[in-house]
Amino acid sequence: MLPVRLRLLGIEKVNEDLAIFRFSCGKTLKFSPGQFCTLTLSGTGRLDQLGVLAEKDEDLKARLKGFSNGKVTRAYSIASRPGIGLLELIIQKVNDGGLLPPGNDGKRAGIATTELFSWVPSLDVDVLAASAAENDVSIGFGRFTPPDNRIIVLVATGTGNAPFMSIIREEYGFEHIEKKWNIPQKHRKIVFIHAVKRLDDLHAYAGQLIELEKMCDTFTYIPLCTEKGIEEEKVYLKEKEIKVLYAENVFVNRQEKDRLARPNSLDPNEIDSLVKKKTLASAFQKITGKALSPSLHYMMFCGNPYTGTNIEKIAKSLGFSEKDFAKEAW
Ligand SMILES: Cc1cc2nc3c(=O)[nH]c(=O)nc-3n(C[C@H](O)[C@H](O)[C@H](O)COP(=O)(O)OP(=O)(O)OC[C@H]3O[C@@H](n4cnc5c(N)ncnc54)[C@H](O)[C@@H]3O)c2cc1C
Repeated sequence: MLPVRLRLLGIEKVNEDLAIFRFSCGKTLKFSPGQFCTLTLSGTGRLDQLGVLAEKDEDLKARLKGFSNGKVTRAYSIASRPGIGLLELIIQKVNDGGLLPPGNDGKRAGIATTELFSWVPSLDVDVLAASAAENDVSIGFGRFTPPDNRIIVLVATGTGNAPFMSIIREEYGFEHIEKKWNIPQKHRKIVFIHAVKRLDDLHAYAGQLIELEKMCDTFTYIPLCTEKGIEEEKVYLKEKEIKVLYAENVFVNRQEKDRLARPNSLDPNEIDSLVKKKTLASAFQKITGKALSPSLHYMMFCGNPYTGTNIEKIAKSLGFSEKDFAKEAW
């Protein structure tokens, strides 16, 4: 493994807590769609100060995962297509993480994301490469890639859309420079279900996905949101009309222990009974006209671990086994 230096080309803020980061190292980037890369950030004043604090406090040092000597290492799923010189990531700012800001006011923020959201283009970061040649570097890790020719059903929450954007862009020929689709004749069918907390989180990619859906009847896009008042309304995203469904009508995306923290959350029995109603399966059938089935579909989930557990329960109850279902959560 060796570090390869990447240059930050630009940051596209989707909203104050979500942004698309684009990097390049002047070489072709090799990976499989669905894989993640590993970034190491270093040499910033904030990280150096955190390093000094951690050296004096063994407890803090032990709690700071992936951090040592002023360097922080984090995994990010790749949202761009492989085989080009551009790395695109979509990153959520963490506001409750492991960073004790200098001054120690008791507030914690995400170590890596606080850094990244304060960056400006032309700063450098290291990406871990499994191998590097004169013209290309291999930066992909993990086995989260669709295996065969069944229809791929992709279910994501939040930034879990990143690996799926790579899969969709590769399958339907997205040209990153011209920002347009050049759909190859031979491609797999994909259904993409994406749930977000804030409607404006969809601004990141909805425009591209709506355009693809209009161009191509083998692609289905189902955006969901947990914001109150969404219920099956048509809303406008960047001047494009889009129907966004209320996420809780399609799947349960709450965690059991939420009940302690949030007054309107569900207890484990309520969650189980909602899962058994298989809301995802009936919504899927209503929208696509097909029953979810492992003989037709390969299913992938990426995002919130609790939603992932619920989706997996639904998939298993429909006959999906390990060879028909893959999950990545963080
Ligand atoms: C395979 C993989 C792919 C990923 N892909 C993406 C992606 O595409 N986009 C994306 O935005 N993220 C992705 N992530 C998550 C990413 O790696 C980071 O975990 C995330 O950006 C937060 O990093 P951070 O340093 O800002 O937060 P951290 O400081 O590491 O905090 C993260 C969380 O850990 C807890 N925590 C950590 N330290 C402490 C502490 N000392 N005290 C209390 N709580 C603490 C907090 O609950 C906090 O919410 C991925 C993770 C994996 C494993």
